[in-house]
Amino acid sequence: MTTSRPPLLPLDDALARLLASVTPLAQVQAVSTFDADGRVLAQDVVSGLQVPPQDNSSMDGYALACSGLTGAGAVLAVTQRIAAGSSGQPLRLGEAARIFTGAPIPPGADAVVMQEDCTVVSEAAPDQPARVRVDVVPQAGQWIRRAGEDVTRSAVVLPRGMRLSPAGLGMAAAVGLDALQVVRRPRVALFSTGDELVMPGEVAPADMRPGAIYNSNRFFLRAMLQRLGCTVSDLGIVPDRRDATVDALRDASREHDLILTSGGVSVGEEDHIRPAVQSLGGLDLWQIAIKPGKPFAYGHVGEARFIGLPGNPVSSFVTFALLVRPFLLRLQGVVDVAPVTVSARADFDWPRADRRREFLRVRRNAQGGLDLFPNQSSGVLTSAVWGDGLVDNPPGQTVARGDTVRFIALSDLLS
Ligand code: AMP
Ligand code: MG
Repeated sequence: MTTSRPPLLPLDDALARLLASVTPLAQVQAVSTFDADGRVLAQDVVSGLQVPPQDNSSMDGYALACSGLTGAGAVLAVTQRIAAGSSGQPLRLGEAARIFTGAPIPPGADAVVMQEDCTVVSEAAPDQPARVRVDVVPQAGQWIRRAGEDVTRSAVVLPRGMRLSPAGLGMAAAVGLDALQVVRRPRVALFSTGDELVMPGEVAPADMRPGAIYNSNRFFLRAMLQRLGCTVSDLGIVPDRRDATVDALRDASREHDLILTSGGVSVGEEDHIRPAVQSLGGLDLWQIAIKPGKPFAYGHVGEARFIGLPGNPVSSFVTFALLVRPFLLRLQGVVDVAPVTVSARADFDWPRADRRREFLRVRRNAQGGLDLFPNQSSGVLTSAVWGDGLVDNPPGQTVARGDTVRFIALSDLLS
């Protein structure tokens, strides 16, 4: 007799279920624009001014009116000097203003001639041109940055739900904001399960007892959570016992939005997560049709959501990137949570198709193709250190050298 295994859940279905269950955090806080990198905007940022505020020069040179030029070689009187931060006087026909990058265009001027296209004919004092010859006739509008060409007044420069990048901070500052309203940080309780786990620093490599391994998941999971803007309560290692697991979960459910665990979500005798979560709340154990990373537990304990990741380091890493990351972004109000996928050329063969969708650890090479890490085992964390991306390989698909595959950069999955 064969025991029937539950059907594997496609990744997109799992992600859709996960995201559908999210209620975005409603609490908002004001943070200094300096400290807002990576935070999610709770409000549209609307500009109260136009940027640039006035027409200004994009070159060091001379501002003039094109209609006052008789042709190449015309000589103009230099009647004023306008540096960035100052403003000029109206210009008359036949006059030019010495002007510098970023300085406002004076009334009456409609072009800037760069200094390389002019010759100083006479000087009022050293470095103070009195008359200048225009060697190259300008087009109207030349080297002028128009008022409002970057931002118009009342424009939404940064929309609500946007995750702020360094450029976003600069834009907020460009419209005069020194503080921003952002969604509060998600509070995440993290713990690892496994009696084999030992913390680095507590036991030296030479003193490791047989069967022990260092807890590596704790380090990358904590870092990944922090990169996504979370405040992490790290509850350390919980032993493979039902009572200990229940106690840890009960503690973790207080004042946290999410409890994230690694290990113990298979259905072996030492896997206590499932019964423990079920006794305190509710749990679905999904067998997701991806490799690495099949078991994935999702539920709740009290008010807190619960996600249980597989213990194998690469499975933990990949399921975090593909499922927990979008969950945490949506929790903060980000709408578009899908990583960017691009086409790329495989410079490798992958001759054995799997019935699950695979996420192969690869690295971009200088020829514009992708190299494959030779060992794709879910326990081999070296693949994730060596790689700079994942190939999203459909179920049942082999890859031959030269094929076009779908590539996701790890940098997009880790930020
Ligand atoms: P489990 O999901 O608990 O059955 O664990 C699967 C595999 O991952 C086992 O080989 C564990 O030793 C390993 N593993 C579990 N948790 C961790 C961890 N925190 N760090 C490194 N390896 C782990
Ligand atoms: Mg275990």
